[in-house]
Amino acid sequence: MCSMIAADVLVVGLGPAGASAASAAAAKGAHVIAIDRKSQAGVPVQCAELVPHMIAMECAEVDRARRQHIAAMATYVEDALPYVEPQFPGIMIDRAAFDAALVDQAREAGADCRLKHPLRAIDDNGVATLANGSRITSKVLIGADGPHSIVGKAIGSPNTEIAETRQITVPLLQSFDATDIFLSAGIPGGYGWLFPKGSVANLGLGVAPAWRHQLKPLLEDLHDRLAEQGRVGREVLAHTGGAIPVGGMRQLVSNLDGTTVLLAGDAAGLSNPISGAGINTAVISGREAGAAAARIVAGESDAGKDYADEITALFGPSLDRALARRRELMAIYASNRMPLASELQKGWIAFDAYWAA
Ligand SMILES: Cc1cc2nc3c(=O)[nH]c(=O)nc-3n(C[C@H](O)[C@H](O)[C@H](O)COP(=O)(O)OP(=O)(O)OC[C@H]3O[C@@H](n4cnc5c(N)ncnc54)[C@H](O)[C@@H]3O)c2cc1C
Repeated sequence: MCSMIAADVLVVGLGPAGASAASAAAAKGAHVIAIDRKSQAGVPVQCAELVPHMIAMECAEVDRARRQHIAAMATYVEDALPYVEPQFPGIMIDRAAFDAALVDQAREAGADCRLKHPLRAIDDNGVATLANGSRITSKVLIGADGPHSIVGKAIGSPNTEIAETRQITVPLLQSFDATDIFLSAGIPGGYGWLFPKGSVANLGLGVAPAWRHQLKPLLEDLHDRLAEQGRVGREVLAHTGGAIPVGGMRQLVSNLDGTTVLLAGDAAGLSNPISGAGINTAVISGREAGAAAARIVAGESDAGKDYADEITALFGPSLDRALARRRELMAIYASNRMPLASELQKGWIAFDAYWAA
Protein backbone atom coordinates (compact mmCIF):
# COMPACT_ATOMS: atom_id res chain seq x y z
CA MET A 1 0.00 0.00 0.00
CA CYS A 2 1.24 3.52 -0.77
CA SER A 3 2.21 5.72 2.15
CA MET A 4 0.04 8.67 3.25
CA ILE A 5 2.01 11.61 4.69
CA ALA A 6 0.48 14.55 6.58
CA ALA A 7 1.83 18.11 6.58
CA ASP A 8 0.49 21.45 7.70
CA VAL A 9 1.56 22.99 4.41
CA LEU A 10 2.46 21.29 1.14
CA VAL A 11 4.29 23.52 -1.35
CA VAL A 12 4.45 22.27 -4.94
CA GLY A 13 7.42 23.77 -6.80
CA LEU A 14 10.72 25.04 -5.46
CA GLY A 15 11.32 27.93 -7.84
CA PRO A 16 11.42 31.48 -6.42
CA ALA A 17 7.72 31.38 -5.43
CA GLY A 18 7.71 27.95 -3.82
CA ALA A 19 11.03 28.28 -2.00
CA SER A 20 9.98 31.68 -0.64
CA ALA A 21 6.62 30.24 0.46
CA ALA A 22 8.23 27.22 2.14
CA SER A 23 10.66 29.50 3.93
CA ALA A 24 8.02 31.90 5.22
CA ALA A 25 5.61 29.18 6.39
CA ALA A 26 8.33 27.18 8.15
CA ALA A 27 9.78 30.29 9.79
CA LYS A 28 6.36 30.88 11.36
CA GLY A 29 6.32 27.38 12.84
CA ALA A 30 4.30 25.35 10.31
CA HIS A 31 5.32 21.82 9.38
CA VAL A 32 6.16 22.29 5.70
CA ILE A 33 6.87 19.76 2.98
CA ALA A 34 7.97 21.27 -0.35
CA ILE A 35 8.47 19.21 -3.48
CA ASP A 36 9.98 19.77 -6.91
CA ARG A 37 10.49 17.46 -9.85
CA LYS A 38 13.96 18.89 -10.55
CA SER A 39 17.07 17.00 -9.38
CA GLN A 40 18.90 20.24 -8.69
CA ALA A 41 17.27 23.50 -7.64
CA GLY A 42 17.10 25.99 -10.51
CA VAL A 43 18.55 23.60 -13.12
CA PRO A 44 17.98 23.79 -16.03
CA VAL A 45 17.81 27.59 -16.09
CA GLN A 46 14.87 28.89 -18.14
CA CYS A 47 15.38 32.60 -17.67
CA ALA A 48 17.06 35.75 -19.01
CA GLU A 49 18.22 36.37 -15.40
CA LEU A 50 17.34 40.04 -14.94
CA VAL A 51 15.83 41.23 -11.66
CA PRO A 52 14.89 44.78 -10.67
CA HIS A 53 17.38 46.50 -8.41
CA MET A 54 14.87 46.88 -5.57
CA ILE A 55 14.58 43.12 -5.03
CA ALA A 56 18.13 43.06 -3.63
CA MET A 57 17.01 45.25 -0.74
CA GLU A 58 14.56 42.70 0.56
CA CYS A 59 15.94 39.41 -0.72
CA ALA A 60 19.43 38.63 0.60
CA GLU A 61 19.76 35.61 -1.73
CA VAL A 62 20.33 38.00 -4.66
CA ASP A 63 23.83 38.56 -3.29
CA ARG A 64 24.81 34.92 -3.75
CA ALA A 65 23.74 35.13 -7.37
CA ARG A 66 24.68 38.68 -8.44
CA ARG A 67 26.67 38.76 -11.72
CA GLN A 68 26.37 42.20 -13.32
CA HIS A 69 24.89 45.60 -12.58
CA ILE A 70 22.39 47.01 -15.08
CA ALA A 71 21.97 50.80 -15.27
CA ALA A 72 19.77 51.51 -18.30
CA MET A 73 17.34 50.14 -20.87
CA ALA A 74 17.85 50.63 -24.61
CA THR A 75 14.76 49.94 -26.73
CA TYR A 76 15.15 49.40 -30.48
CA VAL A 77 11.89 49.84 -32.41
CA GLU A 78 12.27 48.27 -35.87
CA ASP A 79 15.46 49.73 -37.43
CA ALA A 80 15.43 53.10 -35.65
CA LEU A 81 18.17 54.26 -33.30
CA PRO A 82 17.51 53.08 -29.74
CA TYR A 83 15.51 55.00 -27.21
CA VAL A 84 17.63 54.93 -24.05
CA GLU A 85 16.07 55.10 -20.60
CA PRO A 86 19.11 55.97 -18.44
CA GLN A 87 17.43 55.07 -15.13
CA PHE A 88 16.54 51.41 -15.30
CA PRO A 89 18.55 49.80 -12.50
CA GLY A 90 18.66 46.05 -12.37
CA ILE A 91 20.86 43.10 -11.57
CA MET A 92 21.83 40.19 -13.79
CA ILE A 93 21.88 37.09 -11.62
CA ASP A 94 22.94 33.50 -11.95
CA ARG A 95 19.42 32.08 -11.76
CA ALA A 96 20.53 28.56 -10.77
CA ALA A 97 22.55 30.00 -7.85
CA PHE A 98 19.59 32.21 -6.88
CA ASP A 99 17.07 29.37 -6.81
CA ALA A 100 19.54 27.17 -4.90
CA ALA A 101 20.08 29.93 -2.32
CA LEU A 102 16.31 30.26 -1.81
CA VAL A 103 15.97 26.50 -1.28
CA ASP A 104 18.87 26.56 1.21
CA GLN A 105 17.08 29.35 3.06
CA ALA A 106 13.83 27.33 3.14
CA ARG A 107 15.71 24.35 4.57
CA GLU A 108 17.37 26.55 7.19
CA ALA A 109 13.92 27.80 8.19
CA GLY A 110 12.90 24.19 8.79
CA ALA A 111 11.04 23.23 5.59
CA ASP A 112 11.42 19.65 4.40
CA CYS A 113 12.44 20.32 0.77
CA ARG A 114 12.39 17.27 -1.47
CA LEU A 115 13.88 17.44 -4.95
CA LYS A 116 13.26 14.68 -7.52
CA HIS A 117 9.67 14.47 -6.24
CA PRO A 118 7.30 15.14 -9.18
CA LEU A 119 3.65 15.74 -8.40
CA ARG A 120 1.36 13.61 -10.52
CA ALA A 121 -2.12 14.78 -9.48
CA ILE A 122 -4.27 16.63 -6.95
CA ASP A 123 -7.58 14.96 -6.15
CA ASP A 124 -10.89 16.64 -5.31
CA ASN A 125 -10.06 16.48 -1.59
CA GLY A 126 -6.78 18.34 -2.06
CA VAL A 127 -4.67 15.22 -1.57
CA ALA A 128 -1.47 15.19 -3.63
CA THR A 129 -0.31 12.04 -5.37
CA LEU A 130 3.36 11.97 -6.28
CA ALA A 131 4.91 10.10 -9.18
CA ASN A 132 6.48 7.69 -6.67
CA GLY A 133 2.97 6.75 -5.52
CA SER A 134 3.12 8.42 -2.10
CA ARG A 135 0.23 10.68 -1.09
CA ILE A 136 0.41 13.89 0.95
CA THR A 137 -2.46 15.55 2.81
CA SER A 138 -2.17 19.11 4.06
CA LYS A 139 -4.20 21.86 5.66
CA VAL A 140 -2.85 24.31 3.09
CA LEU A 141 -1.66 23.48 -0.42
CA ILE A 142 0.46 26.11 -2.16
CA GLY A 143 0.64 25.85 -5.94
CA ALA A 144 3.97 27.33 -6.99
CA ASP A 145 4.46 24.90 -9.85
CA GLY A 146 4.95 27.40 -12.63
CA PRO A 147 3.11 28.26 -15.88
CA HIS A 148 1.50 24.82 -16.40
CA SER A 149 0.49 24.41 -12.75
CA ILE A 150 -1.25 21.16 -11.85
CA VAL A 151 -2.51 22.83 -8.66
CA GLY A 152 -4.00 25.71 -10.67
CA LYS A 153 -5.80 23.23 -12.92
CA ALA A 154 -7.11 21.32 -9.88
CA ILE A 155 -8.92 24.45 -8.65
CA GLY A 156 -10.13 25.37 -12.14
CA SER A 157 -7.77 28.32 -12.47
CA PRO A 158 -5.07 27.44 -15.04
CA ASN A 159 -3.03 29.91 -17.09
CA THR A 160 -4.87 30.17 -20.39
CA GLU A 161 -2.58 32.58 -22.27
CA ILE A 162 1.10 31.82 -22.72
CA ALA A 163 4.06 33.31 -24.59
CA GLU A 164 6.68 30.95 -25.96
CA THR A 165 10.37 31.79 -25.78
CA ARG A 166 13.73 30.69 -27.07
CA GLN A 167 17.07 31.88 -25.72
CA ILE A 168 20.75 31.31 -26.40
CA THR A 169 23.80 32.34 -24.41
CA VAL A 170 26.50 33.91 -26.58
CA PRO A 171 29.97 35.41 -26.01
CA LEU A 172 29.73 39.14 -25.37
CA LEU A 173 32.39 41.00 -27.39
CA GLN A 174 31.50 44.56 -26.34
CA SER A 175 30.55 44.89 -22.69
CA PHE A 176 27.67 47.22 -21.76
CA ASP A 177 25.38 47.82 -18.81
CA ALA A 178 21.92 48.14 -20.34
CA THR A 179 19.16 45.73 -21.20
CA ASP A 180 18.63 45.87 -24.96
CA ILE A 181 15.06 45.32 -26.10
CA PHE A 182 14.10 44.71 -29.75
CA LEU A 183 10.52 45.52 -30.77
CA SER A 184 9.25 44.68 -34.23
CA ALA A 185 5.95 44.00 -35.94
CA GLY A 186 7.66 40.79 -37.07
CA ILE A 187 7.83 39.55 -33.44
CA PRO A 188 4.10 39.18 -32.63
CA GLY A 189 3.15 39.03 -28.97
CA GLY A 190 6.69 39.41 -27.72
CA TYR A 191 10.11 40.97 -28.25
CA GLY A 192 13.79 40.21 -28.51
CA TRP A 193 16.33 40.81 -25.74
CA LEU A 194 20.07 41.00 -25.24
CA PHE A 195 21.04 41.03 -21.55
CA PRO A 196 24.75 41.26 -20.66
CA LYS A 197 26.21 38.99 -17.99
CA GLY A 198 29.92 39.64 -17.76
CA SER A 199 31.74 37.94 -20.65
CA VAL A 200 28.52 36.40 -22.03
CA ALA A 201 24.98 37.58 -22.79
CA ASN A 202 21.50 36.07 -22.86
CA LEU A 203 19.98 36.62 -26.27
CA GLY A 204 16.35 35.61 -26.59
CA LEU A 205 12.97 36.12 -28.11
CA GLY A 206 9.36 35.53 -27.14
CA VAL A 207 6.22 35.33 -29.29
CA ALA A 208 2.56 34.41 -29.01
CA PRO A 209 2.05 30.64 -29.49
CA ALA A 210 0.65 30.94 -33.04
CA TRP A 211 4.11 32.17 -34.14
CA ARG A 212 6.06 29.54 -32.19
CA HIS A 213 7.44 28.08 -35.43
CA GLN A 214 9.08 31.46 -36.14
CA LEU A 215 11.12 31.52 -32.93
CA LYS A 216 14.17 29.76 -34.33
CA PRO A 217 14.56 31.80 -37.56
CA LEU A 218 13.76 35.08 -35.78
CA LEU A 219 16.38 34.41 -33.11
CA GLU A 220 18.94 33.31 -35.69
CA ASP A 221 18.32 36.51 -37.60
CA LEU A 222 18.77 38.68 -34.48
CA HIS A 223 21.92 36.74 -33.57
CA ASP A 224 23.32 37.27 -37.10
CA ARG A 225 22.68 41.00 -36.96
CA LEU A 226 24.35 41.43 -33.58
CA ALA A 227 27.30 39.26 -34.62
CA GLU A 228 27.74 41.33 -37.79
CA GLN A 229 27.81 44.47 -35.64
CA GLY A 230 30.62 42.85 -33.63
CA ARG A 231 28.63 42.95 -30.40
CA VAL A 232 28.39 39.21 -29.79
CA GLY A 233 30.20 36.11 -30.98
CA ARG A 234 28.70 33.56 -33.34
CA GLU A 235 29.24 30.67 -30.95
CA VAL A 236 26.18 29.40 -29.06
CA LEU A 237 27.17 28.46 -25.51
CA ALA A 238 23.76 27.32 -24.23
CA HIS A 239 20.13 26.98 -25.31
CA THR A 240 16.99 27.37 -23.25
CA GLY A 241 13.39 28.56 -23.49
CA GLY A 242 10.03 27.98 -21.91
CA ALA A 243 6.55 29.27 -21.37
CA ILE A 244 5.57 32.57 -19.76
CA PRO A 245 1.99 33.17 -18.55
CA VAL A 246 0.69 36.37 -20.14
CA GLY A 247 -3.01 36.24 -19.32
CA GLY A 248 -2.90 38.08 -16.00
CA MET A 249 -3.75 37.10 -12.45
CA ARG A 250 -5.54 33.83 -11.70
CA GLN A 251 -7.84 33.11 -8.79
CA LEU A 252 -5.41 33.17 -5.87
CA VAL A 253 -7.36 31.29 -3.19
CA SER A 254 -9.69 28.32 -3.27
CA ASN A 255 -10.68 25.22 -1.31
CA LEU A 256 -10.60 21.54 -2.13
CA ASP A 257 -12.71 19.92 0.56
CA GLY A 258 -10.94 20.84 3.82
CA THR A 259 -7.71 21.99 2.17
CA THR A 260 -7.13 25.69 1.51
CA VAL A 261 -5.32 26.20 -1.82
CA LEU A 262 -3.18 29.26 -2.54
CA LEU A 263 -1.47 29.99 -5.86
CA ALA A 264 1.78 31.99 -6.12
CA GLY A 265 4.23 33.13 -8.80
CA ASP A 266 3.73 31.98 -12.38
CA ALA A 267 1.10 29.46 -11.26
CA ALA A 268 -0.92 32.49 -10.17
CA GLY A 269 -0.31 34.31 -13.48
CA LEU A 270 1.83 36.99 -11.85
CA SER A 271 4.43 37.37 -14.62
CA ASN A 272 4.00 40.60 -16.54
CA PRO A 273 1.99 40.08 -19.78
CA ILE A 274 4.18 42.59 -21.63
CA SER A 275 7.72 42.19 -20.24
CA GLY A 276 7.42 38.57 -19.09
CA ALA A 277 9.22 39.46 -15.86
CA GLY A 278 8.06 37.28 -12.97
CA ILE A 279 10.90 36.67 -10.51
CA ASN A 280 10.09 39.63 -8.28
CA THR A 281 6.37 38.86 -8.12
CA ALA A 282 7.16 35.17 -7.53
CA VAL A 283 9.36 35.93 -4.51
CA ILE A 284 6.90 38.40 -2.99
CA SER A 285 3.77 36.34 -3.61
CA GLY A 286 5.53 33.20 -2.38
CA ARG A 287 6.54 34.90 0.80
CA GLU A 288 3.03 36.25 1.39
CA ALA A 289 1.43 32.89 0.57
CA GLY A 290 3.73 31.12 3.04
CA ALA A 291 2.95 33.61 5.79
CA ALA A 292 -0.79 33.29 5.08
CA ALA A 293 -0.52 29.49 5.13
CA ALA A 294 1.03 29.57 8.60
CA ARG A 295 -1.80 31.81 9.80
CA ILE A 296 -4.41 29.43 8.35
CA VAL A 297 -2.70 26.51 10.14
CA ALA A 298 -2.89 28.57 13.35
CA GLY A 299 -6.66 28.89 12.88
CA GLU A 300 -6.95 32.31 11.21
CA SER A 301 -9.46 31.49 8.50
CA ASP A 302 -9.36 35.01 6.94
CA ALA A 303 -5.67 34.73 6.08
CA GLY A 304 -6.36 33.30 2.60
CA LYS A 305 -8.58 36.22 1.68
CA ASP A 306 -6.03 38.63 3.15
CA TYR A 307 -3.39 37.05 0.91
CA ALA A 308 -5.54 37.52 -2.20
CA ASP A 309 -6.36 41.13 -1.24
CA GLU A 310 -2.70 41.95 -0.61
CA ILE A 311 -1.41 40.48 -3.89
CA THR A 312 -4.23 42.07 -5.88
CA ALA A 313 -3.47 45.46 -4.34
CA LEU A 314 0.28 45.09 -4.96
CA PHE A 315 0.29 43.73 -8.49
CA GLY A 316 -3.25 44.08 -9.88
CA PRO A 317 -2.90 47.55 -11.44
CA SER A 318 0.40 46.86 -13.22
CA LEU A 319 -0.77 43.45 -14.47
CA ASP A 320 -4.07 44.92 -15.68
CA ARG A 321 -2.29 47.64 -17.63
CA ALA A 322 0.14 45.19 -19.21
CA LEU A 323 -2.70 42.82 -20.11
CA ALA A 324 -4.67 45.64 -21.72
CA ARG A 325 -1.62 46.73 -23.76
CA ARG A 326 -0.98 43.15 -24.83
CA ARG A 327 -4.58 42.70 -25.93
CA GLU A 328 -4.44 45.96 -27.94
CA LEU A 329 -1.38 44.71 -29.81
CA MET A 330 -2.82 41.25 -30.43
CA ALA A 331 -6.07 42.81 -31.71
CA ILE A 332 -4.04 44.57 -34.41
CA TYR A 333 -2.65 41.24 -35.66
CA ALA A 334 -6.14 39.70 -35.41
CA SER A 335 -7.42 42.43 -37.76
CA ASN A 336 -4.81 41.34 -40.34
CA ARG A 337 -2.67 44.39 -39.90
CA MET A 338 0.87 44.85 -38.55
CA PRO A 339 1.42 47.32 -35.69
CA LEU A 340 3.06 50.64 -36.54
CA ALA A 341 6.14 51.81 -34.65
CA SER A 342 3.94 54.12 -32.53
CA GLU A 343 1.72 51.16 -31.61
CA LEU A 344 4.74 49.04 -30.67
CA GLN A 345 5.89 51.90 -28.42
CA LYS A 346 2.50 52.03 -26.72
CA GLY A 347 3.02 48.36 -25.91
CA TRP A 348 6.36 48.75 -24.17
CA ILE A 349 7.14 49.95 -20.64
CA ALA A 350 9.92 52.38 -21.65
CA PHE A 351 7.56 54.74 -23.49
CA ASP A 352 5.21 57.39 -22.07
CA ALA A 353 2.39 56.11 -24.31
CA TYR A 354 2.44 52.80 -22.40
CA TRP A 355 1.66 54.64 -19.15
CA ALA A 356 -0.93 57.03 -20.63
CA ALA A 357 -4.58 56.46 -19.80
C1 LIG B 1 13.14 32.26 -21.34
C2 LIG B 1 12.60 33.00 -20.13
C3 LIG B 1 13.23 34.16 -19.71
C4 LIG B 1 12.76 34.84 -18.57
N1 LIG B 1 13.47 35.92 -18.14
C5 LIG B 1 13.07 36.55 -17.02
C6 LIG B 1 13.84 37.64 -16.50
O1 LIG B 1 14.89 38.02 -17.05
N2 LIG B 1 13.39 38.26 -15.39
C7 LIG B 1 12.24 37.87 -14.75
O2 LIG B 1 11.86 38.48 -13.74
N3 LIG B 1 11.51 36.83 -15.20
C8 LIG B 1 11.92 36.15 -16.30
N4 LIG B 1 11.21 35.06 -16.74
C9 LIG B 1 10.04 34.63 -15.95
C10 LIG B 1 10.52 33.93 -14.67
O3 LIG B 1 11.45 32.92 -14.99
C11 LIG B 1 9.32 33.33 -13.92
O4 LIG B 1 8.34 34.35 -13.77
C12 LIG B 1 9.72 32.80 -12.56
O5 LIG B 1 10.59 31.70 -12.70
C13 LIG B 1 8.48 32.39 -11.77
O6 LIG B 1 8.87 31.71 -10.60
P1 LIG B 1 7.94 30.54 -10.03
O7 LIG B 1 8.60 30.04 -8.81
O8 LIG B 1 6.55 31.00 -9.97
O9 LIG B 1 7.95 29.42 -11.17
P2 LIG B 1 9.15 28.53 -11.70
O10 LIG B 1 10.43 29.24 -11.59
O11 LIG B 1 8.70 28.03 -13.02
O12 LIG B 1 9.20 27.32 -10.68
C14 LIG B 1 8.22 26.32 -10.70
C15 LIG B 1 8.84 25.06 -10.14
O13 LIG B 1 7.81 24.06 -10.07
C16 LIG B 1 8.36 22.85 -10.45
N5 LIG B 1 7.29 21.98 -10.94
C17 LIG B 1 6.47 22.21 -11.99
N6 LIG B 1 5.61 21.17 -12.13
C18 LIG B 1 5.90 20.30 -11.13
C19 LIG B 1 5.38 19.04 -10.76
N7 LIG B 1 4.38 18.46 -11.45
N8 LIG B 1 5.91 18.41 -9.69
C20 LIG B 1 6.92 18.98 -9.00
N9 LIG B 1 7.48 20.17 -9.32
C21 LIG B 1 6.96 20.81 -10.36
C22 LIG B 1 9.38 23.18 -11.54
O14 LIG B 1 10.35 22.16 -11.65
C23 LIG B 1 9.95 24.49 -11.02
O15 LIG B 1 11.11 24.32 -10.25
C24 LIG B 1 11.64 34.36 -17.87
C25 LIG B 1 10.99 33.20 -18.30
C26 LIG B 1 11.46 32.52 -19.43
C27 LIG B 1 10.76 31.25 -19.87
